Amino acid sequence: MKEKIKRIQKKVGATPDGVVGPETVAAIMAALGIKEDTPLVWPTQKEVRSGKSVFGAPGSNNLVRITPPYQLWYDGARVSSIAVHKAVAEHVQAALREVLEHYGLERISILGLDQYGGCYNYRKTTAGSSLSMHAWGIALDFAPEHNAYSKKAPEASLSRPECAAWWEIWERHGAISLGRECDKDWMHVQFARLK
Ligand SMILES: [Zn+2]
Repeated sequence: MKEKIKRIQKKVGATPDGVVGPETVAAIMAALGIKEDTPLVWPTQKEVRSGKSVFGAPGSNNLVRITPPYQLWYDGARVSSIAVHKAVAEHVQAALREVLEHYGLERISILGLDQYGGCYNYRKTTAGSSLSMHAWGIALDFAPEHNAYSKKAPEASLSRPECAAWWEIWERHGAISLGRECDKDWMHVQFARLK
């Protein structure tokens, strides 16, 4: 086996010592054209509003429906699926799956992480005159009842320490929290950077 590994190492340009370590793995990946996982960087809000980002023009043309991995509720009604931009769909799905794994159903319910406040909505921002990231279907709201736009930490329920993991999960998918960035609109998570 060791001889075979040495032959592979020679072939891909790694030190032929017969031991598979990080150098050998990196050389094999390079030889096969497998790219390293790069951290997710979504466009800035300005880039999104230009209409020339990966998200394209605002509107409902790019929406796809996903089925959340745990029951979401919208104003007391069951949510069977949510419509999000196709470019972020797998990330929303994966993030919610990780939330379920991390918190479990009971804590999800206690923390209000199952209270959905909507995603796609062709509208302007609450505070300004430019289009909201919701107009592209790349922003989602959660636990809206306890996280009104002007509510700050620690009154906003999603600002509390027990929700830090919730935000870390979204941030691992490149999304940002307006609450964590600006201490406002704690219900809101979006797949666009502020700058
Ligand atoms: Zn929002």
